[in-house]
Amino acid sequence: MSSAMSSSPSNTFDVIVIGGGHAGCEAVAASARAGARTLLLTQKLETIGEMSCNPAIGGLGKGHLVREIDALDGVMGRLADVSGIQFRLLNRSKGAAVRGPRSQIDRRLYREAMQAELAQTPNLTLMAGTAEALILNGDRVVGVTTGEGTELRAGAVVLTTGTFLNGVIHRGEERIAAGRFGEAPSTGLAADLYGSGLMMGRLKTGTPARLDGRTIAWDRLEMQDADTVPSAFSFLTDQITVPQIACGVTHTTAETHRIIAENLNESAVYGGKVSGIGPRYCPSIEDKVVRFADKTSHQIFLEPEGLDDPTVYPNGISTSVSEPTQLAFLRTIPGLEAVEVFRYGYAIEYDYVDPRELSPTLEVKKRPGLYLAGQINGTTGYEEAAAQGLMAGLNAARSASGQEPVVFGRDQAYIGVMIDDLVTRGVTEPYRMFTSRAEYRLSLRADNADQRLTGLAVSLGIVSEARRLRFEAKAAELSKASSVSRETLFTPKEANALGIPVNADGRRRSMRELLAFPDVTLENFVPVCPAIADWSPEVREQVEIDAGYANYLDRQAVDAAALRSEEALTLPVDLDYGAIGGLSNEVKDKLIRIRPRTLGQAGRIEGMTPGALTALLSHVKRAPRTTVAA
Ligand code: FAD
Repeated sequence: MSSAMSSSPSNTFDVIVIGGGHAGCEAVAASARAGARTLLLTQKLETIGEMSCNPAIGGLGKGHLVREIDALDGVMGRLADVSGIQFRLLNRSKGAAVRGPRSQIDRRLYREAMQAELAQTPNLTLMAGTAEALILNGDRVVGVTTGEGTELRAGAVVLTTGTFLNGVIHRGEERIAAGRFGEAPSTGLAADLYGSGLMMGRLKTGTPARLDGRTIAWDRLEMQDADTVPSAFSFLTDQITVPQIACGVTHTTAETHRIIAENLNESAVYGGKVSGIGPRYCPSIEDKVVRFADKTSHQIFLEPEGLDDPTVYPNGISTSVSEPTQLAFLRTIPGLEAVEVFRYGYAIEYDYVDPRELSPTLEVKKRPGLYLAGQINGTTGYEEAAAQGLMAGLNAARSASGQEPVVFGRDQAYIGVMIDDLVTRGVTEPYRMFTSRAEYRLSLRADNADQRLTGLAVSLGIVSEARRLRFEAKAAELSKASSVSRETLFTPKEANALGIPVNADGRRRSMRELLAFPDVTLENFVPVCPAIADWSPEVREQVEIDAGYANYLDRQAVDAAALRSEEALTLPVDLDYGAIGGLSNEVKDKLIRIRPRTLGQAGRIEGMTPGALTALLSHVKRAPRTTVAA
């Protein structure tokens, strides 16, 4: 850590963001939109917007995050729409709440679009360089020193250094200090963070080999097409114009598994070379072979990395065994018998900061003025990184200009769920978003992210004029359409005449109620309400989804209110957790260590199950009241 020294005004900014990955790009864009003079300092300008691993954005839970980023006028959704080469709406057959927009991305198009976007962003300066040390004024972070010794100062600093903190790549017997393949790790900053007394840990992730698509026997593979009507990420996108491609689908064989099992000692994890914990939901092929030993085959998607790029990403077989073993097992996979490899897979181990060191604004509690976002906080994935980047950049900009921070509740946004999970529970493995993490998922839908967040973003002054006008026009149209759907009533006879079978009970039902019936859409009502034909497709979709969920949403509101009243229940500070039956020793230990102030806080402790929470609740309700937490 360097001590404070003077620096020239050209080296002084409101906000400095370190790292041009997904968190960093969204952080600088948000900070600049909020009016802060912002600097992006990143190792190489040409890797801004690089996708380190799989060429895809969105998916279940992750697609919700992208829509929320877009609703706050972030960049990821718009840029994915101009670089997406295979749009698919996942869970299409299930309820709207759990549908996830996803697209495979042309890696080069995305990177170029991001670099062009940032180059023309007002208030933003881009600089190539490495941040080596934090500059402190007391405990407050007031800038960074670069590898060349330049001092850069700011009201707030955002670190988004991804997998670069003390990064080490593992492949077979090879060990390479690196943040990503071919890029130097960040050791100076890591030392500063340790020196700040922060709780830190080590995690790992991995990537598969990149294949030469010209050596794959595509004609022997099952192919998966893009959706005929793509679901764009951005509320501003009217049409996807990028050509759409198909992906190949293949699978591992018993022979693949045999080769991997015989060479497990080469693997970073199974050879005992790595201590970091990897993502449970994105296991390496070694993990799959060991953990699911009864399975004789695992599915692999062969995803082209670009429209004019022969590179293919084999999704599902990340690995860290040696190069010869990788080639041997790849060639046992149908379609890959003659495959050539551009670059072999590897595992990477890196330091992260325990996110319980952060306040919900993503500011480090022990280091005011320092914000962290992305993989450095123990998350995995571009979308999780981007969403945190947006919030950290926004809050850094607001703090630098003395404004109130912005924090979303768990009932407002998936972004709120993720940040609350991180800062309250911490992580024991790389954290990724799932719809199941959101207890209010019926209302936190991808389709209504703009209705939930854009109005708020307008009031924060971080939304372009074009988006504001579009949002307000849609909100006005939606409000009118919702009124029509609530206020237009039908007798059973009238409903039957429209092809909607309703009991002849004499009760008049609203269009909204009838829309909740199976197979009823707004199309049913056009004969008696021709104005519906003029409603825009997105408003029609919204009215239909809202109607379909109306009953559930009412119930969710009741459950939420009940939970909120119980959540506020204060726990005695001297509660004897050891005496509570029905709790595992692990949960007891955590409760004793953390001593949550409320039942709500107890519920968010990692490992806390609904059963354990019920046991705690009934114990507290039975126990005579003693000292109460402040
Ligand atoms: P990154 O995208 O890593 O960006 C970090 C940026 O910081 C880089 O631009 C770097 O140059 C810059 N930087 C670092 N240190 C400094 C410094 N001191 N000074 C200046 N600049 C600095 N995610 C998944 O969801 N699924 C996967 O299967 C998956 N596999 C992965 C495999 C590998 C090998 C890697 C490396 C990552 C993988 N990820 C995966 C994670 C995904 O890439 C990240 O979650 C995402 O990129 C994180 O974004 P970020 O902005 O936090 O960091």
